[in-house]
Amino acid sequence: MNDNFAEIYPLDEFAEVCEWLAFKGWSEAEGGNLSLRLEQDQVPDPLKESDTEPVKLPLNVKELAGKYLLITGSGTRSRDIATEPQNDIGLYRISDDGASYQWIFGNDKPTSEMPSHCLVQNEFVKSRPDYKAIIHTHPTKLISLTHVAEFKDPKVLSDCILGLQSEARIQLPEGIGHLPFCVPGSLELGLLSAEEIKHRNVILWNMHGALSVGTSLNHALDQLEVVEKAAEIYWTLRSAGLPTGGMEQEDLLKSMDFFGRVDRYEKAFKDKK
Ligand SMILES: [Zn+2]
Repeated sequence: MNDNFAEIYPLDEFAEVCEWLAFKGWSEAEGGNLSLRLEQDQVPDPLKESDTEPVKLPLNVKELAGKYLLITGSGTRSRDIATEPQNDIGLYRISDDGASYQWIFGNDKPTSEMPSHCLVQNEFVKSRPDYKAIIHTHPTKLISLTHVAEFKDPKVLSDCILGLQSEARIQLPEGIGHLPFCVPGSLELGLLSAEEIKHRNVILWNMHGALSVGTSLNHALDQLEVVEKAAEIYWTLRSAGLPTGGMEQEDLLKSMDFFGRVDRYEKAFKDKK
């Protein structure tokens, strides 16, 4: 691996998280993609500039101007990224006017979900600057939830699924988002995700997969694991013909109070309708 590229220390965590996604069976074939925003001091000097042709972005991402992204390449497999990250992860710099990006090193064909990643990262710089990591993947039990008609309402979805295990809502007091069907890789999907991610850390994409965000890639993975566990409980109960009512509201509120999360819980979905 190029010595300078190998110096980007979050690269090891990037590869490790991809390996886990492959192990979990959440990123079949070429499914899923990840990005991580880097600070200036995380990029070695020889990799700071690029003379490659700028590629225009579908929308301006001015908050990202001059910032660097590590992002997975189009058609790459999670299981390969784990062993050969320099082949499958690319380093890019967003132009000073936020209108385009330039490839610097590694994989030079970014994922088709690049617009979603750029729009969500742009929103983070504006409103949640400590959030830098995005994972999009295809967890089977979460995709299955998007087939349940009543879960089209994200509040109904969140109250049911995150009420099935006592720590799930503590981890995600704002609940889970659920976007209507959008064509994979479309600008519409990116725009809706960037709007929803102002309020939530995990979003389901109807009939497609999940988007999870965090301060690091491991943080984003943690939250996906929490939701996937709750979904597994849901499908286990459904398979056994048992009710899925979950925790008593009184117990849930007691837990939220104990962890100081009542405000966040009560504000969830107040932004909707
Ligand atoms: Zn996908």
